[in-house]
Order: sequence, then structure tokens, then C-alpha cells
Amino acid sequence: MCGIMGYVGPQQAAPVILDGLRRLEYRGYDSAGIAVTNGHIDVRKAEGKIERLSSLLDREPLKGSVGIGHTRWATHGEPSDVNAHPHTDPSGAFVVVHNGIIENFLTLRESLQEEGHDFTSDTDSEILAHLVATEYDGDLEAAVRRAVAKAEGAYALVVMSEHEPGKIVAVRRISPLIVGLGDGETYLASDIPA
Ligand code: GLU
Repeated sequence: MCGIMGYVGPQQAAPVILDGLRRLEYRGYDSAGIAVTNGHIDVRKAEGKIERLSSLLDREPLKGSVGIGHTRWATHGEPSDVNAHPHTDPSGAFVVVHNGIIENFLTLRESLQEEGHDFTSDTDSEILAHLVATEYDGDLEAAVRRAVAKAEGAYALVVMSEHEPGKIVAVRRISPLIVGLGDGETYLASDIPA
């Protein structure tokens, strides 16, 4: 279990999230990543220190004021760029970051594979992006509720979709997640320092 950070507001999201992820470094991690929505979803992620992600963002900046970020402590799948969060569904329209473990992910992944889903990572978390996409019928919050109803285990899960720009849906069970209300802006974080 590691760190999550989210931001909706007037500022550019990526620097705010990067700063929050640095403040969660004390929790330990093996990789880090950020996704921002700005008409469509863009993801940057890198194995190793947050500085690698920071250099990647210098080379390939993310523009937009709604975003989510993650520091990963691998439980399913080795530490790598591909297994780093955020994870998307096959269309790229839904993106998730997840802390915790989805205990029944193998069963869920097998049934999604039978429906034709291809997976790009070895993580338990990627199935959550696929499940939310499958459940989506125009209401992201309802889709997330239905997706997590199928998932067993502990999680803090944060979801964005390019179908509903300006919105982040977050849900937690056992794993920590804090909502910070600012003046015209909202933050999500795994812990108070962020
Ligand atoms: N189980 C997930 C993974 O291995 C999330 C790990 C975490 O909490 O950082 O990718």
C-alpha cells in the first residue's frame, strides 16, 4: 500500500500532484505516475524515484487542472514502467489509481478476458479500469459503485473519465484516503502531509 493524490481546481494539476507525491515518499514506493484530463486523458509514469517521473514531465508536460497521481508498492506484478499506475481501460477513456489488493482479481480478469479484454499490465489494479469502463452507461459514480461491488479486498481507488471531465470519483474500503476542501479546489490524498 502506498500513496494516492488527486486534484480538481484552478491550478495546473500535475505540479500540485507531484508535490503531494513527494510528501508521501516516506511511505516507500517503487514507481510513480500521474494522469491529467484535458479533453482526453494523458498518462506519464516511471519506475523508480519520483525524480524520474519529474524529468519525464519536464520533457513531456501534462496540461490540465484535473488529475490523479500514485506511488506504487508492488503487490501483483514486478516494479516496472508498465505496471506503474495510473492504469487505463483498453479505450484509454477511463483511468484509475489504486492502493491495496483486489483479492478476487484473477477470477475477475479471467471473465473479462473471456469477453475479449486484453490486459497490458500484471497488476490486480488494471481490472478496476476495465470494470468501470464495462459498467459505464453515462454516470461515472454509478459505474464505480457497480465496479467495486464486484471487487473483494482493501482499496483506495480514484477514477477519472474523459466522458466526464472536471470530475474525480474516489472510493475507499479499509485503505486510507482523505478529502481536502479548499477555496474553489478539492484535494485527495492518502495522508495529511500531502
Ligand atoms: N496492488 C496494486 C499493485 O500491485 C497496488 C499496490 C499499491 O498499493 O501501491 O499495483
